[in-house]
Amino acid sequence: MKAVRLEATGELFLRDVAKPAPGPDELLVRIEACGICGTDRHLFLGEFPSKPPVTLGHEFAGLVEAVGSGVTDFRPGMRITGDPNIACGRCPECQRGRVNLCRNLRAIGIHRDGGFAEYVIVPQKQAFVLPTDIDPLHGAFCEPLACCLHGVDLADIDAGSSVVVLGGGVIGLLVVQLARLAGATRVVLVTRSAEKRRLAESLGATATVDANAGDLVEQLTGANGLLPAGADVVIECAGVAETIEQAPALARRGGTVVILGVMPQGVKVGIEPFDLLFREIKLVNSFLNPFTHGRAADLIASGTIRIDPLISRRIGLAEASEAIGNPAPSGEIRALVVPHLA
Ligand code: NAP
Ligand code: ZN
Repeated sequence: MKAVRLEATGELFLRDVAKPAPGPDELLVRIEACGICGTDRHLFLGEFPSKPPVTLGHEFAGLVEAVGSGVTDFRPGMRITGDPNIACGRCPECQRGRVNLCRNLRAIGIHRDGGFAEYVIVPQKQAFVLPTDIDPLHGAFCEPLACCLHGVDLADIDAGSSVVVLGGGVIGLLVVQLARLAGATRVVLVTRSAEKRRLAESLGATATVDANAGDLVEQLTGANGLLPAGADVVIECAGVAETIEQAPALARRGGTVVILGVMPQGVKVGIEPFDLLFREIKLVNSFLNPFTHGRAADLIASGTIRIDPLISRRIGLAEASEAIGNPAPSGEIRALVVPHLA
């Protein structure tokens, strides 16, 4: 079968490899779609540790083709989404239920072969059923949605509250939808691109703001701003120093700031502890998808989250290496690798 293999930093190639066979507790899954995420680009550039040679791709869904002898809950023909993050279950963090912080975390598409291939092997405990009558491409959004769900869970959004979302990429646009579902009545998305702001408004943002149109804190929390008292919740989804520094200033007294964006390792930002303390700002970080993948699958299965506008392009395996090895074209929300592209 064909697979997109990371062989060393900066060396990503389409290769012919043996079609894998499932172990006793594993599923052989025929990939229907696998999303290209910023992490894949970091892995390519060696900015994120991996274990080459390995097939990349951790945002995947597909059809079960065969099951191992010990598999009880899945049959060939079922559509599944895989939670790529495999916790050991035994380390101190796993024992406290903090599986995303597992000391021995191993991820499909990072440490073991992933979804930029015709087939992938998925341990049955990592698989979640999707209906066969949904759009097969939507399943590839369960993983990013599960990460967003964890962030929105940590935000403790009350019905009627106000939320500011910083960054209008796929994460920000999913968070906007989840914040509305959680009961926020005002959801303001901040991003520079006018196209992404229009998209956010069509997906449920009650207002949008251009990050480049003057001082953001003044635009939002100034006397004539959209939220003069500040937001109940601010969710940072851009992963740049500017938005991480802006986030606490946009929150109301006693408000919550959730950081979803990933900054490069070693980079420091300016945060004012005095302000955080005297306004008792709750600053929390959200990492991966602990126990949220099943709920994400249910949200996708039920069509509750709008996915179609987030799909910018579909490409075959032959174009995947180039797409991963280059920055995303401007305006792109999500590119999907569709191995069996008709
Ligand atoms: P993305 O496509 O790069 O989206 C980030 C967006 O932020 C960009 O589209 C950009 O849009 C906007 N932006 C950049 N600078 C800005 C600024 N100064 N003010 C406002 N908006 C700004 O990335 P993504 O896939 O949506 O992911 C977002 C972040 O979440 C990344 O850092 C990613 O690594 C992280 N992430 C975290 C987790 C987790 O578990 N915590 C999981 C998945 C992803 P404009 O050009 O319109 O400004
Ligand atoms: Zn563990």
